[in-house]
Amino acid sequence: STGVGELEIADLALNYGGVVRALNGVNLSLPAGSVVALLGPNGAGKTSLLRAVSGNLRHHRASVKGEIRYAGTSLVGLGPAETVRRGVVQVPEGRRIFASLTVEENLTLGGQALRSQQDFQSAQERVFELFPVLAERRKQPGGLLSGGEQQMLAIGRAMMASPSVLMLDEPSLGLAPKMIATIADIIRSINAMGTSILLIEQNATMALALAHHAYVLGLGRVVLSGATSDPGLMGEVRRLYLGDT
Ligand code: ATP
Repeated sequence: STGVGELEIADLALNYGGVVRALNGVNLSLPAGSVVALLGPNGAGKTSLLRAVSGNLRHHRASVKGEIRYAGTSLVGLGPAETVRRGVVQVPEGRRIFASLTVEENLTLGGQALRSQQDFQSAQERVFELFPVLAERRKQPGGLLSGGEQQMLAIGRAMMASPSVLMLDEPSLGLAPKMIATIADIIRSINAMGTSILLIEQNATMALALAHHAYVLGLGRVVLSGATSDPGLMGEVRRLYLGDT
């Protein structure tokens, strides 16, 4: 299920506990087959936006208003399992792999929506092609992998569901430059297979190198957005975000 359509977010607002207003009228679109970067300082609302889309809000006493549409239907109010079935999958910040489970068992958790053993096998083969190191280490506990390999496992687990939209929350966090380049290549290959990507990054250089469109969030609002091919926009993003003059 690839390239099914555009993810459209309109006038999205999100409150925690009726108090903290994390998102305040956000409009964003992720065209089919594209990479969109979501930038902005800590606390801007990037993770909250991903949670609203993926339905991972159960433990956050959050209320969502506005619209999130994908492939002709609304995703608002759906739980994570149903959202995954619609082809929209989040790789959480901090990876959240299970350290005591093997690589293979971690992948199994991502493939729970797959109906047949055959679907499962072919999903796993695709993940092992994308990440040969995971194939080599399939019987080892996830906790023995390096930080970069754990990030690969987290992405691999999400890819088990064959998403048409993959949302990544700071995949470069804590990784060495060489590993960041490897992760960037992997994101590029996943996108080349037809999967749309919504990428949160503090590493704006990496994100902008991958993205077709960029949004900068500040205090729950979009403060800048546009195509990364637009030199004017990129100049503004760099001034605002990378401290260039
Ligand atoms: P970071 O990179 O630090 O994760 P972010 O841009 O992803 O930043 P969010 O994590 O979405 O920002 O946070 C937006 C606002 O919502 C912040 O003020 C944050 O403190 C608050 N917030 C996030 N999660 C919760 C929660 N579970 N309960 C209450 N407030 C929260």
